[in-house]
Amino acid sequence: MRCGFCGHEFAESEGNVGCKNCPMSSGCKMVKCPRCNYENPPEPALVKGLKKMFGKKEKL
Ligand SMILES: [Zn+2]
Repeated sequence: MRCGFCGHEFAESEGNVGCKNCPMSSGCKMVKCPRCNYENPPEPALVKGLKKMFGKKEKL
């Protein structure tokens, strides 16, 4: 996924997942950019599917 703030590309698993300090029991699903710590909403499964379909060479 790509950080909406600094444009840094990283795997969702690579990001700092969620705010574990969140009052919600399981935390929220935001993924924090490892570079700037901006909280990105998780990529919808649909988007991932489309990316697989078109391959990784596309530049968005
Ligand atoms: Zn960032």
